[in-house]
Amino acid sequence: MKRTVMALAIAAMSASIANAQPLIDWDKIQIKTIDLGNRTYMLEGQGGNITVAVGNDGILMVDGQFAPLSDKIKAAIKAISPLPIKYMINTHFHGDHTGGNENFAKDGVTIVAHDNIRVRLAAGTVVGLTGAKNAPRPPEALPKQTYLGGTITLDIGGRTVRLTHVANAHTDGDTWVYFDDANVVATGDVFNNLRRYQNIDFANGGDVRGMVRANDAFLAIANADTKVVPGHGGLANRPDVVEFHAMLTTARERIGKLFREGKTEKEVIALRPLKDYDATWAVNDAAAIANTRNVYNSFNRL
Ligand SMILES: [Zn+2]
Repeated sequence: MKRTVMALAIAAMSASIANAQPLIDWDKIQIKTIDLGNRTYMLEGQGGNITVAVGNDGILMVDGQFAPLSDKIKAAIKAISPLPIKYMINTHFHGDHTGGNENFAKDGVTIVAHDNIRVRLAAGTVVGLTGAKNAPRPPEALPKQTYLGGTITLDIGGRTVRLTHVANAHTDGDTWVYFDDANVVATGDVFNNLRRYQNIDFANGGDVRGMVRANDAFLAIANADTKVVPGHGGLANRPDVVEFHAMLTTARERIGKLFREGKTEKEVIALRPLKDYDATWAVNDAAAIANTRNVYNSFNRL
């Protein structure tokens, strides 16, 4: 996979900071299409990975990256199939996954998501670690078909796609998507394949315990051939999820124990409870501290 160091750094940054809007030269971004088999594809550009599934009467896509890339993404999908895009699923509300919503909705694409995404996009949000504010999005950007929990299915003609909500994980509105006829899972940001800590957006319902539960679910359905489309990073497989799950579980156990002992956030940061993991999973000290804060505040959710 051809990726520059800079692109990796930006990907890591947007994975670790909620709604990071790095300075990007949009003209330089290319959309790369990876064929996953059985009319299912992964699209890489900038922001959260996109999954595309072609049915007999339409196309379903998972996430839509940033608005300036919408035309390039539409062109990449047209090159796969001339059928219309019927559905776009938002795995969660962050801008690097929902930035293109308006541009797809105006073509008649139905945006489907957990109902908390509609609520958060309409109200605007605040990033817990930095206090940075995200403005409310216009009505055209809001999902028109929402669900409240459990699993729902969507039909694209001869193919059934399964959407499952995992409560309080990366945010409070996460959906992961399973294409059982292609053995493909699209995870959204409850998993990344960067070998980096993942943001847990505790100010918007994120919780390390839900992150673990989401990855439990992936391990329960994934076999050796399962293709895992991560929120960020290259195409993954079951062993990648096993490694990420182990990191998350350790973080939940160690920091949860300190929380229950009554230690403050400051005290826990000073103890460096994930020191052995920080060396490889954090790009730098600030990222290590941010992860500890995210996990700690999971137990103290805003
Ligand atoms: Zn995210």
